[in-house]
Amino acid sequence: MLQRFFAALRAHYGMTVFVLYLCAFGIAFVGTFTLPLISIFMVLLSIFLLVPAVLLGDAIGALSRRTTRPYLRRGVCPQCREQQGPAWEPPVYRCAFCQAAFDPTGDPHEPDDSASRPQGQANLATNDAG
Ligand SMILES: [Zn+2]
Repeated sequence: MLQRFFAALRAHYGMTVFVLYLCAFGIAFVGTFTLPLISIFMVLLSIFLLVPAVLLGDAIGALSRRTTRPYLRRGVCPQCREQQGPAWEPPVYRCAFCQAAFDPTGDPHEPDDSASRPQGQANLATNDAG
């Protein structure tokens, strides 16, 4: 329960902060013509709120990792709650049922770019050159 809450909060945190800043921009833009002091105050506030926003995101990430790791230790998928078989091993915990992947730290596993690129494109480029 707590793990799902923090995972969802973490997944949507960046977009939520972005939308909040966009709304603040709209208020500041209108304030430019009506009350310029509001715009100046909001510009200064936005700069000083960046650090707490990043720190809050880091704290949410840490809580999400902390609540995910017990599931990985028990061999249960944090996303679909299915008990995993013997294939559930580090360095990447990949669920056999929902294909969700997690790092041992509890972070959702993100494959690097070279692994996700289709092999055929690289071969085509070398064939054209030669
Ligand atoms: Zn799963």
